[in-house]
Amino acid sequence: MRFAELTMHKRLKEAMAHLDYTEMTEVQAQTIPYALIGRDLAVASKTGSGKTLAYLLPLMHRLLTSRALSTRGPRALILAPTRELAKQVYAQLRFLVAGTQVHCSLVLGGENFNDQIKALRKTPEILVATPGRLLNHLTARSFLFDGVEILVLDEADRMLDLGFADALKAIHSAASHRLRQTWLFSATLNNQSVEMLSGYILKAPQSISIGEMH
Ligand code: ADP
Ligand code: MG
Repeated sequence: MRFAELTMHKRLKEAMAHLDYTEMTEVQAQTIPYALIGRDLAVASKTGSGKTLAYLLPLMHRLLTSRALSTRGPRALILAPTRELAKQVYAQLRFLVAGTQVHCSLVLGGENFNDQIKALRKTPEILVATPGRLLNHLTARSFLFDGVEILVLDEADRMLDLGFADALKAIHSAASHRLRQTWLFSATLNNQSVEMLSGYILKAPQSISIGEMH
């Protein structure tokens, strides 16, 4: 299936064409249509299969085509386990937001907390963050979580391995007021702790596993 076949904002299709990406990867083809119609997702697919665009494209589509449900705080949160991974996601996101009105911000552990608070006061629509630092901002009430419409947990399996289960639950709970969609991505199939977290935070999710024996 091709990006051109999706019912998706023209800018995003142009961005894919600009990268010379015509065909979706398998995980993108299976995930993006469900994400676009508003479903929660539990997706397992191996590293390198293209999971980042599988969530960034439908997330950007929502932000470009619908008005904010609240005027306060970010509309989307993307959590990734490490600084490095969060930076990689942010780089792809920056490419997609270029030339749009959408403002995004990166919130990493190990960086100056007060500088982050200043950046958060500029009310970015999208935050890419590591969970520990985002939890610190939740505790410090650095910004309001009640405008969040989409929550993405990237590499959820790794975040759980790193001991972030309670942080993820606390962030999900703080964001639950206007939350419309939660998307959980992992690289491992049949991971028990991921399934427990999915059961806790996802609503009637579409489950997608790529690479299972049929
Ligand atoms: P994952 O998160 O599953 O490990 P990534 O999202 O990091 O995978 O994608 C792996 C690589 O594949 C990246 O360099 C990305 O730009 C590239 N890629 C993603 N989607 C496509 C596509 N549809 N066609 C070609 N390359 C793609
Ligand atoms: Mg990834």
